[in-house]
Amino acid sequence: MAHDVIIVGAGFGGMGAAIELDKMGIDDIVILEREDDLGGTWHVNRYPGLAVDIASVTYSYSFEPNPNWSRLYAPGSELKAYASHVADKYGLRRRMRFGADVTGATWDPDEAEWEVALEGGETLRARYLITATGFLSQPKLPDIEGIEDFAGTVIHSAKWDDEVDLAGRRIGVIGTGATGVQLVPELAKVAQHLTVFQRTPIWVVPKVDFSIPAPVRTVFGALPITQRAARFANSVALEALNTVGVLNYKHGHRFNDLAALLAKAHMFAQVRERRTRAALTPRYSFGCKRPTFSNTYFPAFARPNVTLEPTSIRRVLPGGIEMADGTVHEIDTLVLATGFSLWEKNFPAIEVTGRDGCNLGEFWRATRFQAYEGMAVPKFPNFFSLHSPYSYTGLSYFWTIETQMVHLRRVFEEIDRRAARTVEITEQANAAFLETMTGRLGRSVFQLGSCEGSRSYYFDPHGEATLLRPSSVLGAQRDARTFPIDDYAFH
Ligand code: NAP
Repeated sequence: MAHDVIIVGAGFGGMGAAIELDKMGIDDIVILEREDDLGGTWHVNRYPGLAVDIASVTYSYSFEPNPNWSRLYAPGSELKAYASHVADKYGLRRRMRFGADVTGATWDPDEAEWEVALEGGETLRARYLITATGFLSQPKLPDIEGIEDFAGTVIHSAKWDDEVDLAGRRIGVIGTGATGVQLVPELAKVAQHLTVFQRTPIWVVPKVDFSIPAPVRTVFGALPITQRAARFANSVALEALNTVGVLNYKHGHRFNDLAALLAKAHMFAQVRERRTRAALTPRYSFGCKRPTFSNTYFPAFARPNVTLEPTSIRRVLPGGIEMADGTVHEIDTLVLATGFSLWEKNFPAIEVTGRDGCNLGEFWRATRFQAYEGMAVPKFPNFFSLHSPYSYTGLSYFWTIETQMVHLRRVFEEIDRRAARTVEITEQANAAFLETMTGRLGRSVFQLGSCEGSRSYYFDPHGEATLLRPSSVLGAQRDARTFPIDDYAFH
């Protein structure tokens, strides 16, 4: 028997989709999750210093506010606890299967169903398939000569080993993205020596963070409107930041220059050594790559036990790392804050084969990365991919999720109304959406800023910045409510 819906991924995206479908009375939903618990990124990432970098009042479902965040930017463990709370409250746990590693899904045109294959050989069938596999779920191991011969401990930030005691170790950390920035101050506290291997510096602005006093939390709990007001204020600020600095760089580039100036002033106040400041200063426009927030990253470089190594790595040796100029840094522990294989392994995260044998990954690579409203692709009936090109809207991921919930509701209501068996986005609608998005990208920092050398993961292998949807959150929400339903073909 085929299920109504299979959702792949038990993170916030997959849970949001399940909550919406459940509200519509769709009961037979199975959520397949390869990990041993729910929460997606907030289950997998447990490294020291992990915290959210969008204020928690906004980085949460609007319909499920949490009055108990301990800080403005809650630590990772609270996000994980929040995910568990949501799963329990909305009855999602009973629908989840953990340790279910989906390898692929194939459209069966005769039955009008998806056949979903799991590692180990089991197959499941469903009328609808929704993938919610995250953007950042496949840890990237750097392709550096000799890395497999390293004799010490190797830990990737997304596969943190809680058993390893890092105290007193000679640690090398590769990577200075958002993860590296959070990890470095924590590692510096315990390491005998920490060497930070930086390939590309990152823009770091001050983090205005504080613990939320108990009386405020009580007010949030007793009067939810107060927390909604805080969410609204923060959301307005984030929306302005995104629409001005990222999407309308053509007119808003002075804002980016100001932000870069703020980051430089922040660094100037915290790093006294001129050469270190020069090495930590990015050479690309603010906004080409996700900037980060920290008050503790720069001061770490003033510690006597921390070395910044901004030159190129030649190879990894069994007991250290050799630089291009022959310098060797001896280390016994290698921490990889090297991010994720986003375009290589997340688009898509599983092998998806649609109508006429069309393979989603091959289609995107052979043509361009594209998905109607960041969710649907022609030749893939009854399929919604929540982590698609142009899906990420605004700065808080929860806006993306909730916009997609509205989109799903409209499509599923129409399926019901027309008693349709299949639904598929039309080629014309997809092409028109792609053209609109491409046009808008022309005004963004990605095309008008100096992004060469930023090595930003916002850019796909074709060189187009297709990860983020170039529209305001309000615009994306309006589109979700009003896109012509006949953009889909119902049969
Ligand atoms: P990332 O931004 O992709 O950074 C990876 C780092 O590893 C970069 O500095 C990269 O250098 C370096 N690297 C990769 N391969 C390398 C190699 N072969 N040699 C030398 N350096 C190498 O990954 P991330 O820091 O894990 O962050 C990813 C995203 O996760 C963030 O942008 C953010 O959206 C999210 N995140 C959020 C939070 C939060 O909310 N608190 C925390 C962490 C992460 P290049 O730049 O030169 O490639």
